[in-house]
Amino acid sequence: MLKVGIIGRPNVGKSTLFNKITGSRSAIVNDMPGVTRDRLEKVTEWLGVRFTVVDSAGFDLKEEIIKKEMQQQFFTLLDEVDVCLLMVDVTEGVHSLDEIVCNLLREKGKTFFLVVNKVDSEKREYLASEFYRLGVSEMFLISSEHGRNVDMLLDRVLDEAQKYEQEEGSDEPADLLRLTIIGKPNVGKSSILNRILGKERVIVTEIPGTTRDAVDTYFTFESKNYVLTDTAGIRKKSVMFKDAVEKIGYYRGMDALERSDIAIAILDAVQGVTERDVKIIADAVDMGRTVIIVFNKWDLIKEDKKKTARDLQFQVKDRIKFITNPPIIFTSAFTGNRLDNIFKYAQRLYKEYSKRIKTAELNKLLQFAQERHQPPVVSNRRLKFFYMTQVDVKPPYFVIFVNYPEAVHFSYKRYILNLIREAYGFDGIPLRIGIRKRK
Ligand code: GDP
Ligand code: GDP
Repeated sequence: MLKVGIIGRPNVGKSTLFNKITGSRSAIVNDMPGVTRDRLEKVTEWLGVRFTVVDSAGFDLKEEIIKKEMQQQFFTLLDEVDVCLLMVDVTEGVHSLDEIVCNLLREKGKTFFLVVNKVDSEKREYLASEFYRLGVSEMFLISSEHGRNVDMLLDRVLDEAQKYEQEEGSDEPADLLRLTIIGKPNVGKSSILNRILGKERVIVTEIPGTTRDAVDTYFTFESKNYVLTDTAGIRKKSVMFKDAVEKIGYYRGMDALERSDIAIAILDAVQGVTERDVKIIADAVDMGRTVIIVFNKWDLIKEDKKKTARDLQFQVKDRIKFITNPPIIFTSAFTGNRLDNIFKYAQRLYKEYSKRIKTAELNKLLQFAQERHQPPVVSNRRLKFFYMTQVDVKPPYFVIFVNYPEAVHFSYKRYILNLIREAYGFDGIPLRIGIRKRK
């Protein structure tokens, strides 16, 4: 997790900012053991991304920083954090210590932003211009007390936190793909499942337990890791309790879907795309899952396979409109032909599914979108789009900050989503977009 340190001279407003950032959003208070009150760390989040903020009396920069040994201590403290917010006070102007500290930070190669605090009003912004003298490329004019522009600062921190996460990887091994098989009864779900797990090159690493609840099967294929979060309903069938089992199977299925990345939707090639199939796939997409469409029982198609394939592709395009270009496989659980493609497609989808677009790029796109289609005027107010950022992956979730959220029409959201797809692909991936009011 990214660690952010707030440093600066006494009274510039460090604790005020710390409290503002961690305030109601703080998740875990982590009073570091062994160290008394002089250091406080809090895990907080901004738009769904977590990072740690360090509030430390040790970062109170005083005159002693001019002494060599004090600089050593300062560097030791700095080693703990990934990003520094160097805070200054706009009402006091540039202090010689600020200059010294800027140079120390550069010497150390630290990522840092200059945070000019107590810019409570626009009037005070012009006072801040003298801080350009420090030559820091990224400067934020904020008011910790009033929260002014704190969101912009946090967006910038969020960029760093995301970069950091990408470098470090998340808690789970990044290459563990969670698959689940969905489909109406009798399309061949268990047959396909057994075919997959029975493949020669599929190495099942772990089937935890044999109870009906433990249904995750871990396996590797071509040195990639997968887990099939299975629905109990698929494996066991009871004629006697058919209804009950189906019901349980259904809810388990929902649970398995919650925990998976990719849904493998099995359909019967002979029947084509039915209403029931559409409904099941729509549920998966609503839950944010991405889908591979598998037409099974291909062995039963005897004549004109080419035409049948084209027909089925058309049916997908026509009836499963809510997914853009999902991958389609024609196979038979009996032969297993082309079933390997599941893995190829799963890898490809997963890459898209977990893709992150940089805030800077999204903002260019938002700019472009507005130039091409000016947002409407509602009740005499021009709708203003401030910026856009991607706050989550799996599925990708974008948020646009505006002055007037109620005025954002559904069609404008769709327009932006289409532009995102044009620019970045996301084929087969459900995308979400949220609108928030900028404070
Ligand atoms: P620290 O010593 O750097 O941790 O500073 P504090 O957070 O304790 O703040 C020092 C003083 O500055 C307090 O009286 C705060 O109320 C005040 N202060 C902090 N932020 C702002 C701000 O954005 N605007 C104004 N006007 N005062 C602020
Ligand atoms: P589930 O209810 O979706 O799990 O479906 P099953 O795997 O139990 O299969 C239902 C029926 O379809 C069984 O009689 C299977 O033998 C048959 N079946 C499954 N896959 C295929 C296939 O690829 N071709 C043919 N011809 N029959 C299949």
